[in-house]
Amino acid sequence: MEAIRQDKLGYILTVFRTEGIHPEIQLSNPLEYLITTIVSKRVHFGIRNIAFKRLINYSNNYETLAITDSDIIANWIQPTKFAFNKASIIKSLLTWTHQSFRNYSLDGIDSWSDEKILISLSKIKGMNLKTISRMMCFSLGRDIFPMDTCVHRVFSRIGVSGKKSTPEQLFSSINSVMPYWKSHFLYRNVLKFGQKFCRARKPDCGECTLREICDFNLLKNDWASL
Ligand code: SF4
Repeated sequence: MEAIRQDKLGYILTVFRTEGIHPEIQLSNPLEYLITTIVSKRVHFGIRNIAFKRLINYSNNYETLAITDSDIIANWIQPTKFAFNKASIIKSLLTWTHQSFRNYSLDGIDSWSDEKILISLSKIKGMNLKTISRMMCFSLGRDIFPMDTCVHRVFSRIGVSGKKSTPEQLFSSINSVMPYWKSHFLYRNVLKFGQKFCRARKPDCGECTLREICDFNLLKNDWASL
């Protein structure tokens, strides 16, 4: 398992505690959360909402959706990119849901362990770590730190984790050392921080409150040869 700089993690938590946001978790229907997330991949928030409304209006319920052809579903969510691919993933998810719970609902998944949810949902074609881990954190309220490209970028630049670690490696490592019930708080703050300061292009290092511990800014360790 990859080593995590827990001193840097603690520093970041302290900064966010005083300067960050303090969001509350609002639990939601996990199946709806997953389908909305699949539809919204790589599309603007507004288009995501239009596509999801069309999906629900046309299909009425998940049972109908499950037996509808992928190309028809793709047409319903057409404002989004990769519509056919997303339609196929939604159908696979609904098939798995029915096989697992004998219903088009994830009621009962709450009794599953984190590991069982991660392993089981990962087997569905097209489901990725970001979608599953975010559902666990946001919808089920699990103490899981989700993983995505923004978190990976910020943590590898600061040097919390190595530059070469994959998101999957970072997910395992970071969750093994995450302070108790800090996952949601830290994730929401890292996302906001990544959008405001540590952007993929042209990070605003001059205004960044984490610049004194950031390897990228200090040209240290993995970033020494830049
Ligand atoms: S100093 Fe720059 S690269 Fe480092 S965390 Fe801040 S914005 Fe990102």
